[in-house]
Amino acid sequence: MTGEFALIQQYFYPFSEKLGDDCAALEVPPGMRLVTSIDSLVENTHFPPEAPPRELGYRAVVTALSDLAAAGAQPLAFTLALTMPDGDAAWLEPFTGGLREALDTFNVELIGGDTTQGPLTITAAVFGAVPEQQMLQRRGARVGDQIHVSGPMGDAAAALCVMQGRWPGARKHRQYLLDRFYRPTPRLELGRKLLGLASAAIDISDGLLADAGRVGQASGVRLIIDENRVPLSPALRSVTDRDLVRTWALSGGDDYELLFTVAAADAHRVPGQCTCIGEVVAGEEQVTGGGYSHFPP
Ligand code: ADP
Ligand code: MG
Repeated sequence: MTGEFALIQQYFYPFSEKLGDDCAALEVPPGMRLVTSIDSLVENTHFPPEAPPRELGYRAVVTALSDLAAAGAQPLAFTLALTMPDGDAAWLEPFTGGLREALDTFNVELIGGDTTQGPLTITAAVFGAVPEQQMLQRRGARVGDQIHVSGPMGDAAAALCVMQGRWPGARKHRQYLLDRFYRPTPRLELGRKLLGLASAAIDISDGLLADAGRVGQASGVRLIIDENRVPLSPALRSVTDRDLVRTWALSGGDDYELLFTVAAADAHRVPGQCTCIGEVVAGEEQVTGGGYSHFPP
């Protein structure tokens, strides 16, 4: 890498006047709590080597914001630790372009980061604010609650098939699926509407069953999902191999929709984009397979 500092100055300083000091200061609105989350995207683990850098930049921001959405938080700031094999302009140009597009779209500022040499790894941290005592958590689901999801399931898993040239559906759906993988929509507005309404929430990154299982475990209950009610996009509905679609929808990760539970009496307050897919019952969650695990047993 030719001159780490020159590179940081060229590619990152234009993002914000807050860059260039050892620390960046954050203002938290009165009556709010600071919440934070961090995630790494590793080449070959989270994205294929041929992934377009612009899409990676975009995705690093929106997947991080999705965690804030799941907490019901409003975004305050973003930081980025970037490890890359070389300081290649042909990569950094589009990557920072995608980063900027996503940050502008959701009105979030890049306030700091770190740049190092090594295997391509993108670590994104977000900071947000949520009214005191109101942060949505995985614990809190109660027996009798309904289970809802914010959008169709399985699109991101199907996108991996598109990338690998194994998509069995109509060609016209390919771009939709790739966009669902690279440009998921963080459900920030929905998350904030769920404050004081949802009893528990999570964003679905590892698969519907796996993440539902986490809510069940954290809450000491079981989440029973009715497969037939799980919403599917027109793209997935066009695939004739129903077992494949079922696997994508139940076990595929990376959809970044919200799953939440809500008391049946409050169901009429759930925003219209959501679909009820099941119910919370008494018992202990059986942790089912299917979700993505970095360290399988
Ligand atoms: P330090 O020596 O304190 O780690 P650096 O030289 O790494 O500082 O970074 C200088 C400034 O540039 C800091 O404000 C840091 O937050 C910022 N910075 C470095 N890399 C990135 C990056 N990938 N994204 C955003 N800001 C960055
Ligand atoms: Mg540094």
